[in-house]
Amino acid sequence: MAHFSTHAVHAGRSDLNALGVHALPLDLSTTNPLTDLDSAVASFDELVAGNPPPVGMSHIYRRAWNPTVARFEEAMATLESTQLAARGEDISDVAAIAFASGMAAITSVLSSQILGGKLHVIAVRPLYGTTDHIINTGILGNTVTWVNPADIKAAITPETGLVYIESPANPTIELVDIRDVVLSAGDVPVLVDNTFATPVLQQPLALGASFVVHSATKYIGGHGDAMGGVVITRGESVNAVRQIRLGMGNQLDPFQAYLMHRGLATLSVRVRAAQDTAMQLADWLNQQPEVSQVFYPTMPGADPLGLVGSQMAGPGAMLSFDMAGGYEAAHQVAKAVRLITHAVSLGGVDTLIEHPASLTHRVVEEEARTHPAVLRISVGLEHVDDLIADLAQAFSGL
Ligand SMILES: *Cc1c(COP(=O)(O)O)cnc(C)c1O
Repeated sequence: MAHFSTHAVHAGRSDLNALGVHALPLDLSTTNPLTDLDSAVASFDELVAGNPPPVGMSHIYRRAWNPTVARFEEAMATLESTQLAARGEDISDVAAIAFASGMAAITSVLSSQILGGKLHVIAVRPLYGTTDHIINTGILGNTVTWVNPADIKAAITPETGLVYIESPANPTIELVDIRDVVLSAGDVPVLVDNTFATPVLQQPLALGASFVVHSATKYIGGHGDAMGGVVITRGESVNAVRQIRLGMGNQLDPFQAYLMHRGLATLSVRVRAAQDTAMQLADWLNQQPEVSQVFYPTMPGADPLGLVGSQMAGPGAMLSFDMAGGYEAAHQVAKAVRLITHAVSLGGVDTLIEHPASLTHRVVEEEARTHPAVLRISVGLEHVDDLIADLAQAFSGL
């Protein structure tokens, strides 16, 4: 049984030798030649049902199927199920479905449940700002109950189609006990946004979740130059989500899939290196008088359930902190950094800083919004001393 980092380099590439190529081929065709009408109809019927085209038969049309995207999907399905496979479970019904963005992936799962007649969503805050906004406004036709994890069971009704959580959560890096949420949810499927953890650190399917989603724009692509999203699920849900994608036309572009798949090869190296730096940076920030609190799972009291080391292999590379000087100080620091880029997004090779209350979480209703003194850092691959020096010079201007 190969290890995760080996899969990260090789998954989704099994047909390359037979094609006589070493690097991932980029297929930009929007339509595909048909051999004869009978096999075209057979392929079409499979695609409309949300299945792959039969082996050797035409893919018909890019909105239905694309080989470059399919290789990336195969790799994502493999990487999100290495723990299931290591337990000896049959993972043949696990599949990934790739979308044009993380939000396209998220809204497609929501739509598949809502269109299936299950209108009620139970969700745990905090969530990514746009996700919170979409669920809270109900513009896809859903209703919502916001709960603490302990109250999930009591909130379930016959209309409940999904329990929605993020762990670690954006932007306060709180951890939610996924196994416990799955137990409370009973028959209701649980969706975990695994963007911050990546399958390197956490695999929600192995903890009992039914849907895993990623903003692949972040760590999966990893270089700040590709946008996409992925849903990983099992069984009939795979067909349902693929059918939604075929109809909505929100699939991943092949060139983005090529970049994402290329990014996967270094995923575990990138995540672990950034995590090592984040742990050191969190310790340094925690000692600065300008900082009143650091939000990071290794901080005292931040992980009362001991989920780092059990649910999650490590604390990750995202951290937030509260400036003692309030909004003004946060505003100043974001403006004063030089090496670190003041920008939204995360999970790339370079370090970014942003102000959640003004930007990523602006659309969240006020009582649930992040404290205005909080800054969030996505730690990249720079040397920790250089990051510390940049923050120190930004703090010195306060
Ligand atoms: C960025 C992000 C999203 C949305 O993804 P896009 O690719 O920007 O559409 C969803 N969830 C989390 C946790 C994110 O960080």
